[in-house]
Amino acid sequence: MPDVFADLVGQDEAVAELRRAAVAAATVLRTGAADREPALIAAGPTSGTDAAPVGVDPSSGMTHAWIFTGPPGSGRSVAARAFAAALQCAYGTGCGECPGCHTTMGGTHADVRMVVPEGLSIGVGEMRALVLRAASTPSGGRWQVVVIEDADRLTEAAGNALLKAIEEPPPRTVFLLCAPSTHPDDVSVTIRSRCRVVPLRQPPAVAVAEVLVRRDGIAPDVAQWAAAAAQGHVGRARRLARDPEARKRREAVLAVPRRLTGVGAAFDAASALIEAAEAEAEASVAESDTAERAALETALGAGGTGRGAAGAIRGAAGQLKELEKRQKSRATRAQRDALDRALVDLAGFYRDALTMALRAPVAPVHTDTAALAGAGAQKWDAEGALRRLEAVLACRAAIEANVKPRIAVEAMMLALWKG
Ligand SMILES: [Zn+2]
Repeated sequence: MPDVFADLVGQDEAVAELRRAAVAAATVLRTGAADREPALIAAGPTSGTDAAPVGVDPSSGMTHAWIFTGPPGSGRSVAARAFAAALQCAYGTGCGECPGCHTTMGGTHADVRMVVPEGLSIGVGEMRALVLRAASTPSGGRWQVVVIEDADRLTEAAGNALLKAIEEPPPRTVFLLCAPSTHPDDVSVTIRSRCRVVPLRQPPAVAVAEVLVRRDGIAPDVAQWAAAAAQGHVGRARRLARDPEARKRREAVLAVPRRLTGVGAAFDAASALIEAAEAEAEASVAESDTAERAALETALGAGGTGRGAAGAIRGAAGQLKELEKRQKSRATRAQRDALDRALVDLAGFYRDALTMALRAPVAPVHTDTAALAGAGAQKWDAEGALRRLEAVLACRAAIEANVKPRIAVEAMMLALWKG
């Protein structure tokens, strides 16, 4: 069995840093330093060399709070989980074989909590409960690890609750946050100042293709195509290689530039893109929605007629409403994610046209529409291709800033048509 960092694609520097920290963490546990003098490891390297134990390189030491940053698909949560496993590893290295590694990677370790926000944000209630649990003594005798995927989706109140825990960390608790960047829009400046940052880069297509072949058993030519088309996003590459529906959706998006023949066509293309994103999102959440509702109804004893049934029904209505609210928020998120994937594909097409117009010696993102992008490059020139690429990126930014998706997409389609 490979060690826990094996799935972290193309991130050699980050992996080396995390390995050193895991070894330092094991030393801290062995010497009991964490319990005796938590300040030794509380603030990490930013606190200055005088806080580091003598003879220990401060940059290799252990820290209570970390932020993993990088573009979507670069493996932020993969890195956080692997590091959590290395912290729980009986050998302190993330061997991949001991029970600590195994249960962490499998998501069943009692002292590792993965927080995956399903709605648009992580609320304060959830965060307080989490912080409280994280302060308890680790049952496995090592660390309490809390992984917060998408820390950029914390509400302000939840961020403050987390900050308090990070400012005065319990001696055996480690927080691992994942966020696109350390920009104040993603992570508050105060939280950032308490954390050590592990930047991940967009993995090169060859590295992504290699892992698809090695771990997922995908044919090399398919893996190479999918890795390039996914633009360094490992999960997306895997989906494209395996799921015919995902391939079909991508093809529909890449047909857009060909379809823009007039104003009417531009509006039609906008509608088609929005509706495809809605349909994709609906398909992705429908199954869990139904299962959740059925589970809740069973738990609430739906259909009961005995004593207290009337009161139970009143309480149940509230809980069902709460569930529906959560599901709606999740559906909105899924829709935005689907639309964003489509826009990234489209941006890749215009990037190809731009690099071709410039005769830049780089491989196209979409090998299957390279001829079409080449025709665009001739027709539009570099300047026209750049304007179109910018229109796609502006659309992404507008949706991120809460402009109604349909309005942003219509504006983009008109800009793509007019150039
Ligand atoms: Zn291990």
